Amino acid sequence: MNNLPNCPKCHSEYVYEDGALLVCPECAYEWNPAEVVEEDGVVAIDANGNKLADGDTVTLIKDLKVKGAPKDLKQGTRVKNIRIVEGDHNIDCKIDGFGAMKLKSEFVKKI
Ligand SMILES: [Zn+2]
Repeated sequence: MNNLPNCPKCHSEYVYEDGALLVCPECAYEWNPAEVVEEDGVVAIDANGNKLADGDTVTLIKDLKVKGAPKDLKQGTRVKNIRIVEGDHNIDCKIDGFGAMKLKSEFVKKI
C-alpha cells in the first residue's frame, strides 16, 4: 500500500518517489508533490499574486464586513492556519472573536 497520488498528467497509479520528487513510469512525468495542488483545481492566490496553501498565515488587506457579526474584521487582522477550499470564498479559517468563517483569497496576503 502506498498513499502516493496518481500521476497528474496521465492519472497512472504506478507513481513512485525519487527523492523529493514523484515520478510516473508510464508517461515519465516528474513533479514535486508540494506543487500539485493546482491539479485538483483548488488554487488560492493572495492579493500579491502568491499562491496560498493549507496551514499558511495571512493578514487581511482591507476591512471586511462580517454577516451577523457586531463588528468588522479589521485590515491587518492575522489569520492563522488557513485551509484552501473550492468556491468563491476559497479560504476556510477561524478568526479569534469571530469563529469559523470563509474569506476570499484576494483580500488577504501571505505573511
Ligand atoms: Zn503519468
